Amino acid sequence: MTAASTQAVTPIVLKAAASDLPSVDRILNLAEVQPLLAQYGRTQLTSVLRKHLDQLRAAALSDRLTPADVDTTQLVSALEKQLATVNQPRLRALFNLTGTVLHTNLGRALLPDEAVQAVISALTTPGNLEFNLDSGGRGDRDSLVEDVLCELTGAEAATVVNNNAAAVLLMLNALAQKKEVIVSRGELVEIGGAFRIPDIMQRAGAKLIEVGTTNRTHPADYANAITARSAMLMKVHCSNYAISGFTHSVEVDALAQLARPHGIPVTVDLGSGTLVDLAQWGLPSETTVRQTIRQGADLVTFSGDKLLGGPQAGLIVGSADLIRRIKKNPLKRALRVGKLTLAALEPVLRLYLAPEFLTERLTTLRLLTRHQLAIRAQAERLLPVLQEMLGTHYTVTAEAMFSQIGSGALPVDQLPSFGLAVRAGNAANGGKRHGRALDKLEKSLRQLPRPVIGRIGNDTLWLDCRCLEERDESLFSTQLRAIAL
Ligand SMILES: *Cc1c(COP(=O)(O)O)cnc(C)c1O
Repeated sequence: MTAASTQAVTPIVLKAAASDLPSVDRILNLAEVQPLLAQYGRTQLTSVLRKHLDQLRAAALSDRLTPADVDTTQLVSALEKQLATVNQPRLRALFNLTGTVLHTNLGRALLPDEAVQAVISALTTPGNLEFNLDSGGRGDRDSLVEDVLCELTGAEAATVVNNNAAAVLLMLNALAQKKEVIVSRGELVEIGGAFRIPDIMQRAGAKLIEVGTTNRTHPADYANAITARSAMLMKVHCSNYAISGFTHSVEVDALAQLARPHGIPVTVDLGSGTLVDLAQWGLPSETTVRQTIRQGADLVTFSGDKLLGGPQAGLIVGSADLIRRIKKNPLKRALRVGKLTLAALEPVLRLYLAPEFLTERLTTLRLLTRHQLAIRAQAERLLPVLQEMLGTHYTVTAEAMFSQIGSGALPVDQLPSFGLAVRAGNAANGGKRHGRALDKLEKSLRQLPRPVIGRIGNDTLWLDCRCLEERDESLFSTQLRAIAL
């Protein structure tokens, strides 16, 4: 608006006074409020209504109350809207079109139906969480998954805690409090901003002994650092970063040879920790938990909701003696998992006993192994729907793009995918690109009933279709029709 037009438009605004507002009782007795009372209850409805009336009174004080505001029909519709907003779940389902399959901010792994059913049952029915059905005595909740974890990893024993950060903290506190832990400088990682190996070490009461350099660490570096105060040699998976070029690190088998004569364990924080060789499906290869144990690791810690494809959990597998010590530590009780986690974890682990069906049945692996041609066909089906909705303001094309595994798993490897690329402007205006127009579109996608999350880069909004499961496709395209620009 120009200065001239601002001056020209001087609307005549009718004012209303606070005394024009109906009373709470009068509103509560209105016929059209009765269904709201039945749905939300008198307590909540009255509280929301009072707040709304307070706001209107404040508006009256500064002369901003209009006759429309005091109209009962308007009041009721405002009340209804506020109640709906207040009661909308804060944790919302959304479409992850970021291209990152295990997106930490979006909840990481999605669970298969077997796990969903088990969680429902655990939520609604008593179960033998810590009850031994054979003896009738007290049971151990770890025993629900320990056998299958040992079977899948070749370890002697296993325990489960809240997440992998908890697993590392517990392991260090149980085995290295007031002692030294030797770690290569190249492995002192920070994961997701809040998990840093040196900080966890300190909180666990262990002393970090850094050896080697950022890019190269040799067996002699570890050997020279071993003293009577050493509690363990520890290896940490670099997860979310990769060092390349002139690098050297010491493998688990070499560490095991160094540690054995001193009677100290080798522990490995694998991070994502895979239970199967991903290379068999054309995915980048990762050392499995079983291989790490076979190479001589005494303990391995890993996450439940990264590549494993299960619920948030931290798994510790390894020697029976060390697991026993860990389970006796009081922190184990503080970090223990709930029954929902165990209910979800057990069927996920069981899926690994039939690896030939994994890419079908394990959601994470199904998404990671989705064929680019199938994703492409899907993107091409959705293209006309989105283009029609966006009109001439934006240009939509179906393009090849790369997905990421996410959650620090294999940060440099990328998976060939397909999706929609949206650019502001159209061919007619020379494809002029407007960052602001893209931001606006990105925001309206986030405001859909089931928000759609993409990613912006190179003046383009990328909507990677890899994680759009075909069963959700029709909901997705119906919803696109609700985009408000
Ligand atoms: C992800 C990761 C962690 C933390 O695991 P959470 O399950 O997120 O707590 C710890 N160490 C490594 C190497 C990781 O990759």
